[in-house]
Amino acid sequence: METELVVIDEKHINAEAEEAIKHAGEIIKQGGLVAFPTETVYGLGGDALNPESSKKIYAAKGRPSDNPLIVHIADIEDIEYITDGVSEAARKLAKAYWPGPLTMIMNKSDKVPFETTGGLGTVAIRMPNNKIALELIKASGGYIAAPSANTSGRPSPTVARYCVEDLDGKINMIIDGGQVGIGLESTIVDLTSDVPMILRPGYITADMIKKVLGEVSIDKTIIDSSSTLKPKAPGMKYKHYAPKGTLTIVSGAQEDVVRYINSETEKARLEGKRTGVIGTDSTVSLYKADTVKNLGKRDDENTIAHELFKALREFDDEGVDIMFSESFDDSGIGQAIMNRLLKAAGHNVVFL
Ligand code: AMP
Ligand code: MG
Repeated sequence: METELVVIDEKHINAEAEEAIKHAGEIIKQGGLVAFPTETVYGLGGDALNPESSKKIYAAKGRPSDNPLIVHIADIEDIEYITDGVSEAARKLAKAYWPGPLTMIMNKSDKVPFETTGGLGTVAIRMPNNKIALELIKASGGYIAAPSANTSGRPSPTVARYCVEDLDGKINMIIDGGQVGIGLESTIVDLTSDVPMILRPGYITADMIKKVLGEVSIDKTIIDSSSTLKPKAPGMKYKHYAPKGTLTIVSGAQEDVVRYINSETEKARLEGKRTGVIGTDSTVSLYKADTVKNLGKRDDENTIAHELFKALREFDDEGVDIMFSESFDDSGIGQAIMNRLLKAAGHNVVFL
């Protein structure tokens, strides 16, 4: 299949861009697939109400079919059609954080096929905060099922070139809207349990949800690497966000971390391996690996989130075999950063 590539500037959606979005909407209406930017990561979109479209999404990504898709909408009222009723909690959260990086799990209506929900009776819903995404959702009929636009298991794409790398020839169109704003997938909160529960941490933190709903719990399996329980979001049980080489997180005092990583990368280099390090502003000049990524200032979580997946992808581009990353504070957005980093590393952590 020939994959069309169009470039659109979210800040200047001119007549030509509008035409391209309309065309992309038609592709989705007719059962095709389009990768598009959102504020979190790039999504791979198909008609959420068409079971054939969802099957195509799983096939293009190589995604296990029990891993449900998130339905993206552009109008809060559209929740009614795809759920069995909208709770007060859902309305409050939508008002506070939509459009934005928050996905809510609710009981589905019979309008949503089981192919979209991975066989579950619940549906995940989000309204993204990106103009191109919102226009595309409207142009496609209102309901786009969209997981991250990467091959299953690889780091989510935060720039269009990685959608091209994974999906060129497999989908109808890719919309390049530049580097995304946030860089980590949405927070997922389950509203079907008595106490709302966070199933995947993201930019919208537990405290932000607590502020609106008064209470929220966290699925323990997503923060406790020693837990043997199954995560409640089916997708969280799979290997995820992983670069091709081996990644180890190193935790400890800065000096010790730098010394340990330099000694390990030197050993790997002598064995003929290509080495990489993920560091921060204050440490990158100290590392001796073949390639060193700077995620920015240690206390600037937004920039760290923004740069993390790109750094992991670049290691793949550069053929890096052995990688080390510094560890980060896991409060606030840091919880999402450490959740992704730990999964990328297969929970391989050295404590000094
Ligand atoms: P991705 O689209 O790649 O960000 O993955 C979507 C995530 O949402 C996966 O971890 C899914 O398991 C999760 N998810 C989607 N729908 C549901 C649902 N109905 N219940 C629980 N988790 C869900
Ligand atoms: Mg994904």
